[in-house]
Amino acid sequence: MGVTPYYYSLIEQFNDKDPIFRQIIPTEAELILDDSDVDDPIGDESPGQGSRPMKALIHRYPNRVLLLPTSICSVYCRFCFRKRLVGDPHHNASQQDMEDAYTYIREHSEIEEVILTGGDPMTLGDHALLTTLRTLAEITHLRFIRIHTRLPVVNPYRLTTRLGLAISQIHKPVWISTHFNHVREVTPVVEGYVADWTDIGISFLNQTVLLRGVNDSAESLKALFLRLIELKIKPYYLHHADRVKGTSHLRTTIGEGLEILKKLQGNIPGYAMPHYVLDSPEGTGKIPLQNPYDPHHSS
Ligand code: SF4
Repeated sequence: MGVTPYYYSLIEQFNDKDPIFRQIIPTEAELILDDSDVDDPIGDESPGQGSRPMKALIHRYPNRVLLLPTSICSVYCRFCFRKRLVGDPHHNASQQDMEDAYTYIREHSEIEEVILTGGDPMTLGDHALLTTLRTLAEITHLRFIRIHTRLPVVNPYRLTTRLGLAISQIHKPVWISTHFNHVREVTPVVEGYVADWTDIGISFLNQTVLLRGVNDSAESLKALFLRLIELKIKPYYLHHADRVKGTSHLRTTIGEGLEILKKLQGNIPGYAMPHYVLDSPEGTGKIPLQNPYDPHHSS
């Protein structure tokens, strides 16, 4: 397991009813294996196969790629869909792996967006992170860069003014896609650090995972999504939890997820409503589970 002192301090009750505890502290329930659970629920390929031409890069959609500079995270979420990889230094990209990935991106002019993921790219030091961003910004056909990170949630102190100013000077739009799952994670400390970055002009998106006993009610998600909007963070995806081994106690059914979304419709502004999606186990990308803007949709 792994947890930052800050995130650990958000646990109010040391038992598995607490939504922060459930996300980060291992429990015996992880030993219960469901027959349909798998190690790799989103179909990531091995380097050199299919949509993964090399160690540090996945090219699943025509106009965007995932770049994986590190396998390290500052916490280890119990529900993580890449839990077999994160924290294992063998999956870290070397300098040569990164150079190979840059060359691939330069040679594929159809790529418009690079998404830094991992692991958590913001666990890289400022120099390594900014070098990566500046190298990408020099590729003329790239239009946007996205950073997938849980650091704003689990260690908001990482959002220093110095780093924010440096990111704002990158010559391409850089979006921060973060990962709040419960309104209690949106603390005054988070609010202060995120406001520093949004004032500088940095834009935020959020991906939430629907988790049993954490946020599996319309009331809980409404509180979270509206709070995120207050911080100028756009709720982007609501992920149905992946079938990762040892996480069945944290999963809802898709029917339960759709019921929750139906209750949310009309109760929160449209721009606060994320897309409810499931990652395809075949590695073909995200499957929309509902058009949240269709009032006639029913489960
Ligand atoms: S921070 Fe993201 S990649 Fe790392 S363990 Fe949590 S969910 Fe997985």
